[in-house]
Amino acid sequence: MGTADQGKRSEGGVSVQRPRNLHAKYHAHVYFDENTTEQARVLCAEAARLFGVVMGRVHEKLVGPHPHWSCQLAFDATQFDRLIPWLDAHRAGLNVLVHPNTGDNLADHTTHASWLGEPAELNLSRFRT
Ligand code: ZN
Repeated sequence: MGTADQGKRSEGGVSVQRPRNLHAKYHAHVYFDENTTEQARVLCAEAARLFGVVMGRVHEKLVGPHPHWSCQLAFDATQFDRLIPWLDAHRAGLNVLVHPNTGDNLADHTTHASWLGEPAELNLSRFRT
């Protein structure tokens, strides 16, 4: 991987944006389904315990722009560099959306959005006015 590729990695020929610490505040949304609910719950609880990030509700339904069931972790730039590698190492197949909270919801969920694992298509209609 060259330096020009920092933060990106090619997967199946498609370039996926990987998390980089460029903003003050972030969410990570851990995606799961009926088979991985407990795995996601444990992962998020462990992240909260280890890094002091704020764990949201484990939504066994679709909420916000998310096309899968999800659990939110809220954290900031000071927690990013320890949390993100840990999350990547322990997600065990779960896909995670990482986005900053800059105040621009549409940009945060498009150009600023990054992924651990496979990206998913978000429902952005709520951010388009
Ligand atoms: Zn979010």
